[in-house]
Amino acid sequence: MYDIVILGSGPAGCTAALYTARAGFKPLVLEGMQPGGQLTQTTDIENFPGFEQGINGFELVSTMKAQAERFGAVFEMDECMSADFSGPVKKLETMVNGTIEARAVILATGASARWLGLPNEQRLMGHGVSGCATCDGAFFRDKEVAVAGGGDTACEDALFLAKLCSKVTLIHRRDALRASKVMADRVLASPKIEMAWNSTVADVLDTEGSVSGVVLRDTKTGEERTLPVSALFVAIGHTPNTGFLQGAIELDEQGYIRTNGVKTSAEGVFAAGDAQDPAYKQAIIAAGSGAMAALEAERYLLH
Ligand SMILES: Cc1cc2nc3c(=O)[nH]c(=O)nc-3n(C[C@H](O)[C@H](O)[C@H](O)COP(=O)(O)OP(=O)(O)OC[C@H]3O[C@@H](n4cnc5c(N)ncnc54)[C@H](O)[C@@H]3O)c2cc1C
Repeated sequence: MYDIVILGSGPAGCTAALYTARAGFKPLVLEGMQPGGQLTQTTDIENFPGFEQGINGFELVSTMKAQAERFGAVFEMDECMSADFSGPVKKLETMVNGTIEARAVILATGASARWLGLPNEQRLMGHGVSGCATCDGAFFRDKEVAVAGGGDTACEDALFLAKLCSKVTLIHRRDALRASKVMADRVLASPKIEMAWNSTVADVLDTEGSVSGVVLRDTKTGEERTLPVSALFVAIGHTPNTGFLQGAIELDEQGYIRTNGVKTSAEGVFAAGDAQDPAYKQAIIAAGSGAMAALEAERYLLH
């Protein structure tokens, strides 16, 4: 029986591991299918405090993991398939280790950005393809960029990028935005944002390993045209990695873990990071909530 099991080894899971390990609980961290989490998918991180020149995403989470290990956290390549949080002993069914029991659990399983599914998209991630305007917009200051999507997030991203970039093309497959009227009106009024209506992205163009443009396909005529841009921001939403928690804990209508602070609907079960955060999805915020979840879990175990 473990005192604390942490699901996920992104910034939220690693920070929770650091805090609980330093408090003497010897936490077990199950790393899931993506050890290190989403930051391993990107190159430079410039908005995590403490690194004047920025830091590579993989290096950042690897260092977080090593720091937690130094204090006794144990990381295992295993994934939780289902959970039973109904009693004081929490039961986790895992792929490799079978049933794991714990007195407290911290859920830090993140959320996966949805992508367009184009062959070049994954290859050019961190080299002009991004799922996060807040994270990567500043790399494309004074450049022409495109955003794919038509909801509130896409509009928010387009407006954010319009402040930094010389021109933003918002690519939407319909002839009207899905976003709330306020957001849509702001986008349509912006002199820096141009709409590509009834269009999908058919391909991302690669010049020497970086994005040099996108191929747009008209959804009505099938005609294709090239739009020269330095970056494509894909803003078609996220899916929280919480499917295995169905029935074990309260989730909202989008699948995010419902929390009060970092407390979930089950006593002794805490949640941190993107899995419970439909709004911010930033590494520093995930790390901060990981620390909060750790402190709450420690308090729960001590009382
Ligand atoms: C391309 C890209 C670039 C980004 N750039 C930046 C940036 O510059 N700055 C910034 O602040 N943020 C950036 N972000 C956002 C940032 O990566 C996330 O906000 C942050 O990683 C969330 O941390 P997390 O710990 O909550 O989840 P994640 O990092 O998503 O980690 C989730 C962890 O949970 C594990 N897991 C999932 N399911 C299970 C399961 N069933 N059992 C066990 N483990 C499981 C996964 O394997 C993974 O280890 C970027 C994101 C992407 C995709």
